[in-house]
Amino acid sequence: MKLLVTGGAGFIGSEFVRQAVERGYDVCVLDALTYAGDLERLHSVEGRYRFYRVDLTDRSRVFNVLKEEKPDVVVHFAAESHVDRSIVEPTVFVTTNVLGTQNLLDAAVEAGVEKFVNISTDEVYGEIAQGRFTEESPLNPSSPYSASKAAADMLGRAYHRTFGLPVVTVRPSNNYGPWQYPEKLIPVVVLKALLNEPIPVYGDGSNVREWLFVSDCARAVFAAVEKGEPGRVYNVGSSQEKRNIEVVKAILSILGKPESLITFVKDRPGHDYRYALDWERARRELGWEPAVKFEEGIERTVKWLVENRDWLERKLSELRSFWNRVYGGNG
Ligand code: NAD
Repeated sequence: MKLLVTGGAGFIGSEFVRQAVERGYDVCVLDALTYAGDLERLHSVEGRYRFYRVDLTDRSRVFNVLKEEKPDVVVHFAAESHVDRSIVEPTVFVTTNVLGTQNLLDAAVEAGVEKFVNISTDEVYGEIAQGRFTEESPLNPSSPYSASKAAADMLGRAYHRTFGLPVVTVRPSNNYGPWQYPEKLIPVVVLKALLNEPIPVYGDGSNVREWLFVSDCARAVFAAVEKGEPGRVYNVGSSQEKRNIEVVKAILSILGKPESLITFVKDRPGHDYRYALDWERARRELGWEPAVKFEEGIERTVKWLVENRDWLERKLSELRSFWNRVYGGNG
């Protein structure tokens, strides 16, 4: 089976590509290599996939790749993915996540693919104080990021209804693991702790996220590729809820660094308090469940980040210039 993976040079997409190559799939990757994309994440499978450096907003090139490759399945990870950036530059989020997704959907209709797996997010539901979102819960996004992802999610389902494109929608919770770009909570905390710099925590750190190890997320996407029913939505969670402050303290404890590094900073505007998913459907219908508990996953992640400190620090200089531009050096 031939897979076309968009965003395959990103954090989750690259984990999926590494697993896909090892599983024997014929894989091609389409990625624009924005600041968030890095082919180094694929060095362990180098030469075993084809690569197209293409921006999803370049409609004719997207169509050409699908015409040339004729994939059986499209797995769509590519997106602008960082909430904070969506607050300072929303245009690129709407352009990539909405218009880019529409281009890919149109190209997939023309190519007549067997399946289109659309990677959405738990953030499309907005926040929930108690209980869990099911796949039938209304979409109520809070940030430009989640609003653009909700649009992409809905476009996918509309293309199933309107054009019969066999779209399967996957809504994963917060991912963590090796190769995550150090603007996201866990790698940024590890990096700052290693540098003995103050660790910024939004508000009072009480926000709750459901943490999913990246290899488990990729396994869920394979289950959707193989068993997902077109037109259906699957929540992919872990039920491993942690407050941000608990995550930060767990990292400091693994690294043997003092909690005095923690500095509470002004909360992110529109910051969702809690996300939580009911993912029974994925367990029942896809036969998937997460394998990695948070305590094990965080150990493995911190160990990887420490061992790959060079890679982390290389990302830091470009990040610092972004933080300087946006927050005046308070990154
Ligand atoms: P990422 O930011 O690490 O990677 C995104 C990839 O998409 C990068 O390789 C980038 O170069 C590429 N890309 C960006 N704009 C593009 C464009 N215009 N054309 C082509 N390629 C482009 O993201 P991630 O964390 O790996 O997330 C992957 C997907 O999973 C996204 O759709 C995201 O919304 C979703 N998701 C992420 C999480 C999470 O916790 N990271 C949780 C749920 C859902």
